[in-house]
Amino acid sequence: MNTTLLFDNRFITELPGDQEEGPRVRQVRGALWSRVLPTPVAAPRLLAWSPECASLLGLNAEDAGAAWFADVFGGNRLIPGMQPYAANYGGHQFGNWAGQLGDGRAILLGETVNARGERWELQLKGAGLTPYSRGADGRAVLRSSIREFLCSEAMHHLGVPTTRALSLVATGEGVMRDMFYDGRPREEPGAIVCRVAPSFIRFGNFELPAARGEVELLQKLVDFTIARDFPQFSSLPETGRRIAWFREVCERTAIMVAHWMRVGFVHGVMNTDNLSILGLTIDYGPYGWIDNFDPDWTPNTTDAGGRRYRFGHQARIAHWNLAQLANALVPVMQDTTALEECLEHYVQCFLAAECANNAAKLGLRHALAAQDTLMRELFGLLHAAEADMTIFFRRLAGLDVNAPSLDPLESAFYDPSKRSTNGRALLDWLERYAARVREEALDPADRTHKMQAANPCYVPRNYLAQQAIDSAEAGDTGPLHELMDVLRNPYSEQPGRESFAGRRPDWARNRAGCSMLSCSS
Ligand code: AMP
Ligand code: MG
Repeated sequence: MNTTLLFDNRFITELPGDQEEGPRVRQVRGALWSRVLPTPVAAPRLLAWSPECASLLGLNAEDAGAAWFADVFGGNRLIPGMQPYAANYGGHQFGNWAGQLGDGRAILLGETVNARGERWELQLKGAGLTPYSRGADGRAVLRSSIREFLCSEAMHHLGVPTTRALSLVATGEGVMRDMFYDGRPREEPGAIVCRVAPSFIRFGNFELPAARGEVELLQKLVDFTIARDFPQFSSLPETGRRIAWFREVCERTAIMVAHWMRVGFVHGVMNTDNLSILGLTIDYGPYGWIDNFDPDWTPNTTDAGGRRYRFGHQARIAHWNLAQLANALVPVMQDTTALEECLEHYVQCFLAAECANNAAKLGLRHALAAQDTLMRELFGLLHAAEADMTIFFRRLAGLDVNAPSLDPLESAFYDPSKRSTNGRALLDWLERYAARVREEALDPADRTHKMQAANPCYVPRNYLAQQAIDSAEAGDTGPLHELMDVLRNPYSEQPGRESFAGRRPDWARNRAGCSMLSCSS
């Protein structure tokens, strides 16, 4: 094995760790992490890898093809410098404080520093038991691992802040899962994804020591996070440093959620343990993509009752989550009214990002004013007429604003009767929109360009991911590779690949994996 990976494991070097090693399940107090090794698997086999993510680490195709690669990223072997551990964190789940959670099946391998001096943490998801596994098995099934691998990289290419995915390794072992929670578990193939991010610290890492009154530990974590992950604030005087940092967390979270709304992404489990302190999309579980526009849609069957994490509610949930983080930070802040100002700053940032994104989606010159109703009316119509969000916005770029008509948009509609009931209202809207575009007199080519850069042609639609999963489970990873390749250039039309940009087929409307997902993964 000859790798160029260099490690500098600051999290475990600079922060207090657990006295006990190994996976015995326990409450871990006074410590932010526990040493634990990945549990070796029967037959690690590389199913897919991301060249773009590998290049961040200075790895290439030759590395990915070498036998050590599947061994290391399947959890069977360590590279010198790796010091595996699981992080200790808590969280609010579905609005309730859940106490200690921690990395129950994720194991951090270490922090690599690349030739450009960038720090990238490597984390295996599904690598076996940890002290935080709480009665579960520490493993992940192939279907959920494919979904995480695929979407992480797709989000990156879409320009949405996200954790990355280096590799997808089949373990050669079965994992028992009750996918439908109907008391009929079955064995599914297991897999491990190696995730990559500058930091995997979550809101919940701060909440747990705060809830336990471990103020000194909390303070250490805050100062460490600023020093390692937000060095731009390190030189500020101590009084302003922490608040400047929290303000930045609010901003990044706002920008991330505004991107989700732009591309039609529903996270599905926005618990505070699933929100990254860096404002990266993290923990791809029962997430989904909007096909027919519906702000009330949630892909997560566990959330079907309350729909707390529905598409149109995500900005408010992020605010609620930031408020939980702010509460946790109170003991280490001098000025708590400043925390409230930051939360208000989040609202303003989100609105500004949304107004700018909406102007780009519509190809308008200036950000929409907050009280502008143009987009809100369109969303209402798209919902009522059951129009596909991605197709509608993409095709709107082709509208002739001197002769507005529904013709270029016909392929966006799922239900002919809902399309025709709303036809008149849609045309009225198009006429008002076209008048607005004419008034602004933006060069037509500039307008098209702006719209195509904000409205993807290809997104990892739920049914496309499910088709790639079905094939991979049957032994053929070709469709997964092709889908990954399409999603490398989501904003460019790719001749011959029109089928990836079409409406969700009827068979997928109510099929598990395509419209409904459980947390069982
Ligand atoms: P999630 O909602 O998927 O982010 O998971 C919530 C908590 O459950 C986290 O602490 C996870 O590490 C843990 N968890 C989920 N699945 C498993 C599993 N199969 N084995 C151990 N822990 C798990
Ligand atoms: Mg999680």
